[in-house]
Amino acid sequence: MANKLILGMDIGGTNMRFGLVDERYCLSHFVIEPTQEVFCCADPMDMIKERIRAYCDEHLDGKLPDAISMGFPSTIDKTRRIVTSTPNVRALQNIAVADFMERAFKIPVYINRDVNFLMLYDILHHHLENQKIVLGFYLGTGLGNAISIGGNLLLGKNGVAAELGHIPMLGATDLCGCGNYGCAETVASGVRLEKIQSDLFPDTSIREMFTRHRDEPAILEFIDGLSIPIATEVNIFDPDYVIIGGGIPQMPDFPMQYLEESIHRHLRKPYPALNLEILYSIPKQENGVIGAGIYAFKRLESEDYR
Ligand SMILES: [Zn+2]
Repeated sequence: MANKLILGMDIGGTNMRFGLVDERYCLSHFVIEPTQEVFCCADPMDMIKERIRAYCDEHLDGKLPDAISMGFPSTIDKTRRIVTSTPNVRALQNIAVADFMERAFKIPVYINRDVNFLMLYDILHHHLENQKIVLGFYLGTGLGNAISIGGNLLLGKNGVAAELGHIPMLGATDLCGCGNYGCAETVASGVRLEKIQSDLFPDTSIREMFTRHRDEPAILEFIDGLSIPIATEVNIFDPDYVIIGGGIPQMPDFPMQYLEESIHRHLRKPYPALNLEILYSIPKQENGVIGAGIYAFKRLESEDYR
């Protein structure tokens, strides 16, 4: 039997990443394209469809893959057919992406939250497939979260479980991209770090924030702000493993040890504090695309998997 190929896609507000993933989760023909003009146009789905067709023409000699799997920085409905809401991309609200693309290409199309794909990749990378509870925290522009229980991604009644970035934080008052005020994402995210930079350290580039100011009170408070939602979820789930990823922990001189100490300070004693296992994701542009491929193979294997 021929090796199946999935077209994995990781679609963000700035870039869209494409790649072909085979049954051994090997990636080929990885491409990054800007998305700005896609989300400015009247019909972004038509434009993404054309980009997919052009990619298949170039890399598959015009043939189609066995399935398409697309990650969005969004909430997705429980059936995993509809992009329901996207805080940072206005054009991506309530769109039946899977139906649209299946009508266009006549092959299975799967969609999910981009952070779920990142965690599927990290579970593979760290050999955690047999662990019962794994929590993923992706600290980037927003505060991404994914929860895997018994090999399944936590879905919830409406498909919107694990929106950790939108738990309310006492004392936080800023407007969040979701429309609420005071979400964790307004204090524990790259957006917050940029605000600290512009308010307090305007002469420091964002890249040098930790190198130059890691011991200043505003930065220590920021790190503690990251640790609170993480520790909260760890205290709820008592996980086998925690994965921390995203762009912020990868910044030069990020105070990783202080973050771990802050998380530990808020954990219930003696457990889960005593034996919490934290692993780090190595953020590469390809991770979400490979994760999209892993997800599609799981869906092709089992009708119940979501
Ligand atoms: Zn929010």
